Amino acid sequence: MKSSDCARTPVRIERATYVRPVGGVTQGEIRFVLRQLAIVIDMRVHVDQEKCQGHNRCVALAPDLFEVDEYGTASTKNDGVVPPDRQEAAQLAVDNCPEYAITVTDA
Ligand code: SF4
Repeated sequence: MKSSDCARTPVRIERATYVRPVGGVTQGEIRFVLRQLAIVIDMRVHVDQEKCQGHNRCVALAPDLFEVDEYGTASTKNDGVVPPDRQEAAQLAVDNCPEYAITVTDA
């Protein structure tokens, strides 16, 4: 393979998997690197209302993405779609939910 072949070889980027890591890099770190490379993957957040205990941390961190009902149970706004400029806030909410009730997926 010649070095000039590299410029023509398409680069396949695997879809990120969204698993809370036990060790190693976090989802947020993966997204940070992708942002630095100008690669933005559409993100959607989800709240498992069975796990939610109403701490309201998610709403405090990202009130435009989450809301709580009268019992303090969180849900997502806008069907969970996260604008590209709010992905960091969404990831912060994921990382700060003590019940691991928030997950993200590709939109
Ligand atoms: S931070 Fe987690 S447990 Fe607390 S309200 Fe939000 S989703 Fe529910």
